[in-house]
Amino acid sequence: MSDLFEKIISLSKRRGFIFQSSEIYGGLAATYDYGPLGVELKRNVTAIWWQDMVYRNENVVGLDSAIMMHPKVWEASGHVDAFNDPLIDDKTSNVRYRADQLIEGYIERLRKKKKGEKADVIYQRLIAALNDEDMPGALYRIIHDEEIKSPDSGTFNWTEVRQFNLMFTTYLGPLGDSDSKIYLRPETAQGIFVNFHNVRESARKQIPFGIAQIGKAFRNEIVARQFVFRTREFEQMEMQYFVKPGQQMEAFERWRETRMNWHVNNGVRASKLRWHEHVKLAHYADAAFDIEYEFPIGWQEIEGIHSRTDFDLQAHMKHSGKKLEYFDPQTQERYIPYVVETSAGVDRTVLTLLCEAYREEEVNGEQRNLLKFHPKLAPIKAAVFPLVKKDGMLEVAHRIKNDLQALFNTAYDEKGAIGRRYRRMDEVGTPFCVTVDGETLEDGTVTVRERDSMAQERIAQDRVAGYIADKITAWTNDEL
Ligand code: ATP
Repeated sequence: MSDLFEKIISLSKRRGFIFQSSEIYGGLAATYDYGPLGVELKRNVTAIWWQDMVYRNENVVGLDSAIMMHPKVWEASGHVDAFNDPLIDDKTSNVRYRADQLIEGYIERLRKKKKGEKADVIYQRLIAALNDEDMPGALYRIIHDEEIKSPDSGTFNWTEVRQFNLMFTTYLGPLGDSDSKIYLRPETAQGIFVNFHNVRESARKQIPFGIAQIGKAFRNEIVARQFVFRTREFEQMEMQYFVKPGQQMEAFERWRETRMNWHVNNGVRASKLRWHEHVKLAHYADAAFDIEYEFPIGWQEIEGIHSRTDFDLQAHMKHSGKKLEYFDPQTQERYIPYVVETSAGVDRTVLTLLCEAYREEEVNGEQRNLLKFHPKLAPIKAAVFPLVKKDGMLEVAHRIKNDLQALFNTAYDEKGAIGRRYRRMDEVGTPFCVTVDGETLEDGTVTVRERDSMAQERIAQDRVAGYIADKITAWTNDEL
């Protein structure tokens, strides 16, 4: 793992952003807890997403559907069948392959190299392996014997082959028999599809309109070793936009632009973001792009924008027997809407912001660590310090702190030298520090110090809230 990534993980723990889950018991793999500052950052991310996706779009409404759903939902969506593949993971690149396809690719390459005889032998072995009682083991032996390398990284560094369904199962009620088996949702999207009619009718929406939802999703990931990038329990921010068939590409392009801008508006440098087009489309999609961020571990997906056609609504119609058509009152047409989806991970967005904000600078020969968050996302917006613990400064500082806290999350710190207090706040990304000193008691002014420039300004204490609010609105990333 890169040094930078290690530093970010260590800072996250030390300052209370993210902890390993159940750490005192040795931790639970690929599961994390958000500490006092992490939960603030995460809540800011979801609040801004909700603001931008729901409140700022007249035709998008919200939903909060249950994590547990009728098991037929996952038969309809394809999740029960589609994940039952023999999977193998490249431990170098963390790319997952279907073991049988990996071998097929190898056979193809042998044929291209005019090694037809060998290709035939391997092909026969593949057929036998697919019919073997221990199919995963038999496939693995071929990969191992032939030293088939990963197409992605070129290395021979595989996990075992495992037949794997990514969905977590549990049982409803006390019996624990197969009839009561249900799944923890692997995506929030299906909760939106099955509520399509309920929402459209109750919110009196006409197409085009969208349904947005933020919630937990669960995937029993095989390779999950990259901090909160890939976890088994995570949170998604998804929006399904229902359009008339034929109009999906226009919506797709518009949402692509909107979603890329959203990340840039959160202070992420555009040079660190890029599009990745899916070469192999999922069974339900007619176009799909991912937004990728350049993490210290390389370029990785943070959000997917997918044109999902009418696959999901059709499938739910078939499996539930309920009509999920739309009647267009203007054109008097009946149709099954097409869907454009925007699907972002909360945890990956938080990780993006931490990686993007992390800076080490040298100031007067000393290292200064800072998290250069956009102030609107910073877990603490302002910190109030009395310069010394006497002459009534504590009372004034407490009063300012309480006033500011009513507007945004504000910290108070009276311990240690003022320079150290500034550094502690820089390290967690607090954009403004307000210091109460001797002059405050004489003329009612305080100093406000900015995190990025470290510039200090004296202003009247009753202007502090407005001053900070204006600065938050006006903030731009000067490195963009
Ligand atoms: P990947 O290829 O990285 O496994 P995916 O293509 O399966 O991701 P989607 O199904 O498109 O991901 O899910 C949408 C978003 O949900 C992703 O862009 C990501 O931000 C988030 N996400 C998916 N799986 C995980 C996970 N295991 N941990 C954290 N976030 C995840």
